Amino acid sequence: MSMEPTSKPGEIQPSEGSLQPTDSQIHAISNLIAWADEPEYPGQVDQEFDDSDNQLIQVSLGIASGLFYALQAKHFPTASHSLRVAKMCSRWATDLELEPFQRDQLEVAALLHDIGKMGVPDYVLTCPGKLPAEEQTLMDRSKEIGLEILSACCDGEEIIDLIRYNFAWYDGSRGNCDRKKDSLPIEARMLAIADAYDSMTVDQIFRRARSKDRAMAELVSFAGTQFDPELVGHFCELQSRNQSAENGATRHWLRVLSPDEANKHWRLNQAGVNLSRLRATSAYQDSLVRHIHDAVIYLDLNLAIVGWNQAAERLTGINRETVEGHQWTSELLGLADQQGRSLSQKSDPVRQAIMGGAQSMTRLSIRNADNKFVTVAAHVVPVIGEDGKAIGATIQLHDTSGMESLEEQIESLHYRATRDPLTGLVNRAEMDRSLAEMVDRHATLNKACSVIICDIDFFKKINDTYGHPAGDEALIVFAKLLETHARSADVTARYGGEEFVILCPNCDGQSASSLAEAIRAELAAIPLSALGGKSMTASFGVTELQRGDTADTILNRADRALLQSKEMGRNIVTQIGGGLSEPVIGDRRHWWHRMFMSIEPEVLLKRAMKTRVPLNLAVEKIRGFVADHRAAVSEVKEDSIKMVIDGESLPMQRRSSDRAVPLILDLQFSPITAENGSQHTKVQISISPRRNRDRRKRDAIERARHILQSLQSYLVAYEFVDTTVATIDEGTSWWSRIWGRSKSGESR
Ligand code: GH3
Ligand code: MG
Ligand code: MG
Repeated sequence: MSMEPTSKPGEIQPSEGSLQPTDSQIHAISNLIAWADEPEYPGQVDQEFDDSDNQLIQVSLGIASGLFYALQAKHFPTASHSLRVAKMCSRWATDLELEPFQRDQLEVAALLHDIGKMGVPDYVLTCPGKLPAEEQTLMDRSKEIGLEILSACCDGEEIIDLIRYNFAWYDGSRGNCDRKKDSLPIEARMLAIADAYDSMTVDQIFRRARSKDRAMAELVSFAGTQFDPELVGHFCELQSRNQSAENGATRHWLRVLSPDEANKHWRLNQAGVNLSRLRATSAYQDSLVRHIHDAVIYLDLNLAIVGWNQAAERLTGINRETVEGHQWTSELLGLADQQGRSLSQKSDPVRQAIMGGAQSMTRLSIRNADNKFVTVAAHVVPVIGEDGKAIGATIQLHDTSGMESLEEQIESLHYRATRDPLTGLVNRAEMDRSLAEMVDRHATLNKACSVIICDIDFFKKINDTYGHPAGDEALIVFAKLLETHARSADVTARYGGEEFVILCPNCDGQSASSLAEAIRAELAAIPLSALGGKSMTASFGVTELQRGDTADTILNRADRALLQSKEMGRNIVTQIGGGLSEPVIGDRRHWWHRMFMSIEPEVLLKRAMKTRVPLNLAVEKIRGFVADHRAAVSEVKEDSIKMVIDGESLPMQRRSSDRAVPLILDLQFSPITAENGSQHTKVQISISPRRNRDRRKRDAIERARHILQSLQSYLVAYEFVDTTVATIDEGTSWWSRIWGRSKSGESR
């Protein structure tokens, strides 16, 4: 408290306690004593505090520092007086071994005991002479103004009480107070002494500074009336001690004290300085922050939480009212790194932003509203004030757990989309994809691969006899058996119902048949508890990739083999198809070239082949070809057959945008007798596009060659050598007779 006229009892009092002067008299007396020369106004020279002073103010007042800086702006001499008194009190409290909390409260009270000067007009504060009555009234009101200001923002009575009782006289004679002597808080009694001493020893606008001895003499003369005599004695003794003690005593200010401590006295959620800044933001910003999906948290420089949007409430389950005004700690949200390790000072992005001004974007984990740890993308940005200094930080937390669960969902969706739920085997769609891929790859590499297709025998009966759940159980057992036998590279799929497929890459028909046989034998041998200890059987069809195959043809061929197993009585493995080991024609380019060059304009390919089987068997082979290619037979004549292979049923193109060209196959058969007398068959083949406009299409020619190769595989045919003698039985309609037979069969 400065020594200018005020309603607070001053230290310059007449020695006789009975004759107590009024406040205006005090003013007058002090003027008489000290007003010798024109004063040099101290505040004009130095209007700022140094860094350590600022740190002291920050550490003591926390978010209420603004109050102090407002006072500084209003009247610097009062602010610097308050700061000196605070330092003095702090040193003294340490010397008296007061509790740290008492010392802290005393520091705060000292810094703010003159805050009421905020309400005193400048011309009164800077009035050099005796204050006129009106101005004196304004000055006298500063005590109440100070208490009002502090009541509005100070959370807790202690500090307000210290300031209130600091104005009271020790003997209760002045200060309009209900307490006196030892019932006055010791901190208030100390503050009164330090306040008076500083006022006397520093130049005031209305009088010069007094010497320290003179000031102490004044204190002593008012000991027992205005001041606590014991404390005066201690204070004077302290002042006469070495100045160096002061530094040690106040060193705690230079430590970074817990802002928690500094801020605990202030009601931030009602009257916080930073909150008013928040309120000042535009309605747009408010709305944006309030409704944004990410959690947004504002912190001030002291790590006090001054903003907490709705998304933050949702994410953390903590209400804005609960946290605003409180101290931010990373423990509040259980902030940890992605491995769950708690954050060190260095790795704490919030501290880095506030202390180091560093912006950061990190993945962290936090405890969410359900008390579970979820990952968030944390964007922490320092907030810079207009003066270029940091005033706080924003924390934006984007919940990324949804993205993770999306990834998991996609994974599980993919699993569900490609798996059969009952057996866990690959489903039909996935098998189709794998089959196409296998056929493509092996055809390109000219390597063997095989397909096994199997179907449980009389499964309907199993269901009917033991019930559907038992049937399910049997399906699961069968699936397990297939998986056990399949090689690691094989794809085991449930094709539908009680039908299963094993795709065997790098495997010829013979090996695939052995595999199927092993499964068949074991299945037939194991008793199933679901079937009351009985076993079940299955039938198998096996085929190897052959030239000209597509996914369709190889699968259809395997299916035909399965059908044969069923027809032959079930619980059998049947293998059909020649595989890649069958001889290839067309390698002789000159022959091929000749054939190709001699075709009529509308014909893509023309070939002649010989198969070493009699006509009836050749026709059976053609049946397989027709079935597997899903060819539509359009004409059957005495010695020929015409069929259309549609592009739709035989997807040979790599690119889905390509439509396969529909082709017409014309096959002319003629029986020939080999030199050894055995019956063979000559087949003349011509392939043309169904639409003449497709003739020039590169795809059409490629496809025609492909089909020709496939036909060759089915017929197990060799190139036609002209030395054979064709003997066409013209007298009988042999062709239509053979084709028209209902019996089907296949021989190799
Ligand atoms: P075949 O020896 O000729 O194959 O005779 P089958 O009885 O096994 O063949 P069919 O096609 O007549 O019957 C198949 C039965 O499989 C009919 C169907 O109810 C049953 N089935 C298909 N899927 C399931 C399934 O998921 N669980 C059970 N329990 N039964 C199924
Ligand atoms: Mg069956
Ligand atoms: Mg079936």
